[in-house]
Amino acid sequence: EGTTVVVTATVTHETTPGPKMSNRAWVTLATNDSYGLGALVVAHSLRRSGSVYPAVVLITPSVTDAMRERLRAVFAEVVVVDVLDSKDAAHLALLQRPELGITFTKIHCWNLTQYEKCVFLDADTLIVQNCDELFEREELSAAPDVGWPDCFNSGVFVFTPSAETFNNLIKFASERGSFDGGDQGLLNSYFSDWAQGDINKHLPFLYNVTSAAFYSYIPALKHYGQNLKIIHFIGAAKPWLQQFNWQTRSVDAPEHLREFLQLWWDLFVGQVHSQLDTAMTGVAGN
Ligand code: UDP
Ligand code: MN
Repeated sequence: EGTTVVVTATVTHETTPGPKMSNRAWVTLATNDSYGLGALVVAHSLRRSGSVYPAVVLITPSVTDAMRERLRAVFAEVVVVDVLDSKDAAHLALLQRPELGITFTKIHCWNLTQYEKCVFLDADTLIVQNCDELFEREELSAAPDVGWPDCFNSGVFVFTPSAETFNNLIKFASERGSFDGGDQGLLNSYFSDWAQGDINKHLPFLYNVTSAAFYSYIPALKHYGQNLKIIHFIGAAKPWLQQFNWQTRSVDAPEHLREFLQLWWDLFVGQVHSQLDTAMTGVAGN
């Protein structure tokens, strides 16, 4: 009895038939329609970058049918992560740590064992340039967090799906929780050798440029910015919550953020919004 949503047990695969199965995939997550909009832009940005790898989205039952349909149109797989079975370890862990709801959903990505290697992307990221080389890295590769650079930011990471790792993460989370209450704290504690271990697991910051950096080191942004690979809109100011002027098709935001938010909105307006309208008028696009 209670408020639990999220995580494991009954997993339904809603697969769009496509070309031959890849052993590598991009993975993102949306537990509601608002993050679903982010996931749609992530998928289109991957396409635009010319990635040869498919994208998978994990969703929870709270995502509406209309959104699922849009997601199915651009993702190779839409994986519904459900909570119906109350007897499994993940569910019990979740009951003990209700604050970790969305975190538990994210680590569910380790259950995508139909793939050998994956790269997780938060739904608030945007691929600016092709990053397919990330799949050559090993678990767990990630870029430093600007708040505490000996921690990695968990918005972009390379991982190896494994039921064993998933179970170990669940066990670890239920016993120790997360020092920041979210997936980043949990994953940094679990993959605790990241800071001082193999340097190849440190992704260049260009693979996860968090919006905080736009303010904290503007000369560096100007100097290195043209090599930017992935932008990550961390914090409360998500791209889809910004003021957008439909007349001028421009986003209203502080100068250094504006350029990047505009990229997100250009993709949203060009690829996503028109599709949403089509769905609503019932003229499903082919
Ligand atoms: N997320 C979600 N629903 C939520 C919150 C988060 O689906 O209500 C997913 C989504 O993929 C998101 C990720 O979890 O990008 C991490 O959360 P967020 O990006 O908001 O955290 P931040 O990067 O700002 O720390
Ligand atoms: Mn994020």
